[in-house]
Amino acid sequence: MTLPIHAIREQVLAAIKNNNRLVLTAPTGSGKTTQVPKFLLDAELSRPQIIILQPRRLAARLVAQRVAQELGTSLGDLVGFQTRHESKISAQTRIRFLTEGLFLRLIQAQPKLPGVGAVILDEFHERNLASDLSLALIKRLQEQFRPDLRLIVMSATLDTKEVAEYLACPTLETHGRAYPVDIRYLDKRPARKAVVGKMRTSRSGTIPVWELAADAARDILEEEEDGDILIFMPGAYEIRRTLEMLPHEDRNGNPLALFPLHSQLSPREQDAAVGPAKGRKIIVSTNVAETSITIEGIRHVIDSGLARINRFDPRRGLNALVIEPISRASADQRVGRAGRTAPGTATRLWTQADDRHRPAHSTPEIQRLDLADALLQIYAMDVGDPRKFPWLQPPTAAAVQQAEKTLINLGALESGAGSITATGRQMSHLPMHPRLSRMLVAAAERHCLRRACLWAALITERQILLPNTKHTFAEESPPGLRSDFIVLEHAIETARHLRFDPARCSSRGLNAVACREVEKTTHLFESAAGSANLRAHAREDDSLESIAKSLLVAFPDHLAVRLNQNNLAAALTNNRRGQLDPATIAQHVGILLPIEITEIGSGSASKTVLSLMTEMDTQWVTEVLANQIAHEQIIEFNADTKAVEMVERESFDGLTLSESAPRDPDPKLAAPILAEQIIRGALKLESWTEEVDQWIARSRCVAKWFPERRLINYSDEDMRLIIEEFCQGATRVKNIVDKPLLPFIKDALSWEDQQLIEKMAPERIQLPRGWRMKIHYDPAAAPKGRAKIQDLYGLEETPTIAAGRQKVLLEILGPNMRPLQLTEDLANFWRNLYPELRKQLSRRYPRHEWR
Ligand code: ADP
Ligand code: MG
Repeated sequence: MTLPIHAIREQVLAAIKNNNRLVLTAPTGSGKTTQVPKFLLDAELSRPQIIILQPRRLAARLVAQRVAQELGTSLGDLVGFQTRHESKISAQTRIRFLTEGLFLRLIQAQPKLPGVGAVILDEFHERNLASDLSLALIKRLQEQFRPDLRLIVMSATLDTKEVAEYLACPTLETHGRAYPVDIRYLDKRPARKAVVGKMRTSRSGTIPVWELAADAARDILEEEEDGDILIFMPGAYEIRRTLEMLPHEDRNGNPLALFPLHSQLSPREQDAAVGPAKGRKIIVSTNVAETSITIEGIRHVIDSGLARINRFDPRRGLNALVIEPISRASADQRVGRAGRTAPGTATRLWTQADDRHRPAHSTPEIQRLDLADALLQIYAMDVGDPRKFPWLQPPTAAAVQQAEKTLINLGALESGAGSITATGRQMSHLPMHPRLSRMLVAAAERHCLRRACLWAALITERQILLPNTKHTFAEESPPGLRSDFIVLEHAIETARHLRFDPARCSSRGLNAVACREVEKTTHLFESAAGSANLRAHAREDDSLESIAKSLLVAFPDHLAVRLNQNNLAAALTNNRRGQLDPATIAQHVGILLPIEITEIGSGSASKTVLSLMTEMDTQWVTEVLANQIAHEQIIEFNADTKAVEMVERESFDGLTLSESAPRDPDPKLAAPILAEQIIRGALKLESWTEEVDQWIARSRCVAKWFPERRLINYSDEDMRLIIEEFCQGATRVKNIVDKPLLPFIKDALSWEDQQLIEKMAPERIQLPRGWRMKIHYDPAAAPKGRAKIQDLYGLEETPTIAAGRQKVLLEILGPNMRPLQLTEDLANFWRNLYPELRKQLSRRYPRHEWR
């Protein structure tokens, strides 16, 4: 059989011989995965071993199997593969298919890849974090130690310019054979009309995607003579629901062959799905069938438009799989599966109008995942400054910083992110998010590793309790439990008992598929822990204390303190607030550890819900977080008790863990705090009179008029010292309310200076007829005095103060005490204004004296 790739065999070999690097693009089915390794092998270009990286375990096994078959050898001989779950390789193996994750473990253990002649990165268009990381590591290895190592990057899309530039190498492409595919959309958004009295009304009014898929399959069976059908669903659960809905016979009454295809199936079940079958086939698959594997005979594709996508989940603070709409580029790849052998059809289970809302391309993982794991790997591999790691597309500085912070908090990196710690190194051997690897390392020390593997699996996988029956299962659990995980442990136990039977599990409120996934992941974590030399203790410690402490080591930033009995409010680290999920069984008023912190709603209506809770003990927390807990003495003014009080507080990242009853502080420390209240105006003193203000104003005026005397002028700093002095010995307001303030203000000046103020800025000045006129001082204006016209008789000129340096602004009042004139030139007043005024006033007030 010749495939499109065979046409460029010689070009591929020539390019890789000349340059050692090549980017190869060709559509799905061209022969990249199965043929290129054989080219290298035949040309003896890469002795002894060729490694091909696969993003998916299932694909790694299936393509290895196919290549072995083409070469007429049995799997594990000349051609082998390795995944987290299985390994079939031997000393004879020359073509070795590996998942990307395992490759990273390999290059970590053997940084120079001894015995490897070529590495092929397959399905590079998926842009997984592991393949980006692998690419950079191989490039670096070629440049520094292994110029002989050959590298081929293969992609099903043509979008590879960036990689070719990064590697400074040529790109080869071929265009495959493709037949036209008729693409169909839904006419309108699927919504179920609520039909009264009929059972089929669903709560939300939307039709589940598996029902839409089954309807589409029925249409195809009705309209299209032949061709197998491939249905894309996001995960195992949706695949099972789809299979339940599909017809079992075609329109002529012939039996249909229905197959699920996903990574959780046994190898036999997977082989059955891709192999030949009796009768027309319908395969319901995850996106492994998008590009990775070949299924012969497919002419019709039905696309749910969904996939489980790995993404940073802020709720749990780690990466998780979430179901999301796929990009248009992915949807086009799926369409391509229908036109491989003859013209076909593709049914998209969304409307053409909605198609525009899909992203054009999928975002590379490096832009959407938490980088803590990748960064830890880089640190563990000692490849120079991790911040300068030569990524194809560097992550944002913020993402790197966030990852460093996580790793420092977990104790995997030295603070300052300088280097990896011994714990970090141990964690780097565990293929999971660093929070979880940290938890397992802690649990191994505390002899509860097995239980921690289960809890870690429960954190990683999705909900095992069906949403509407969640409550019943929790209610069946024995009372007095202190962790939601214990309820889930019982749930898994029950599911195991029911042998994960979907129907029986579902009647108990359990999602059987999810339970089985948890079970598998638990075993995976157990075996990974074993390979990383973490030993489960013969006698597990089954106390809540041990497991809770292990959990806390991994999620310290999730700590919460419930504030009171009356509501579910809780304080979180970093000064955040949240509310307990009412369904949680752990409702202890005190310290709690929620694993999920979910933001609901947006804007002012948003709230933070805390769930998957474990009750903590202050003692445990202080023990585990010993180095990170701040012990503070907080001395604060309490406006209610009108006193300065001291409390001793233990806190972690802004979250108060414990607080003593208030006590009287050392008065030395209290004085500045009381003073602060007075200066800010929060506390008013009766002794702060007009006289005090005037003294300050007078001093400031004198300081201005006599700059050579260098008087203090009651600056903010001076005032603070004076008021603190005034508050000495007091802890409560009642200690200072009766105390006179003026002497403290005055005593800031020496005796001589005080005398100078009295003399140069007198409070009052004597007028010729005996009246002592009060002067009002303001450093920003002229000093001002008020006097009745009669009191001014005998005074020819404007009076002055400050030894004649400053005139007093006079406000001259009539007999009715109303201002007549404001002047700084009294002589002029007498001369020009007074004669006329006198006439008028003496007529109006004849009984007053008029001169
Ligand atoms: P690519 O990697 O470019 O998508 P593959 O190398 O996987 O292409 O497959 C190339 C061709 O080999 C397919 O188009 C198909 O004809 C054939 N092929 C591959 N795997 C199988 C298989 N398991 N069964 C039958 N044919 C297969
Ligand atoms: Mg391929």
